[in-house]
Amino acid sequence: MRPNRFYDVIRIGPVKVATFNNGRGQTKHIAACTAPNCGFSNEYFDRSAAELAARTHTCA
Ligand SMILES: [Zn+2]
Repeated sequence: MRPNRFYDVIRIGPVKVATFNNGRGQTKHIAACTAPNCGFSNEYFDRSAAELAARTHTCA
């Protein structure tokens, strides 16, 4: 799945949180770490869950 429209992008530490529409009429939320070699990226049904994951993320 390649979401093409992110909005409400915020940055929490090295992690970016964004909301997008997945093309099937669903709004989803993603938390993705921008640190090199981390690779953390997860989708959530809930904005607060994505932000919580971003806040509590520590790079492996
Ligand atoms: Zn990370």
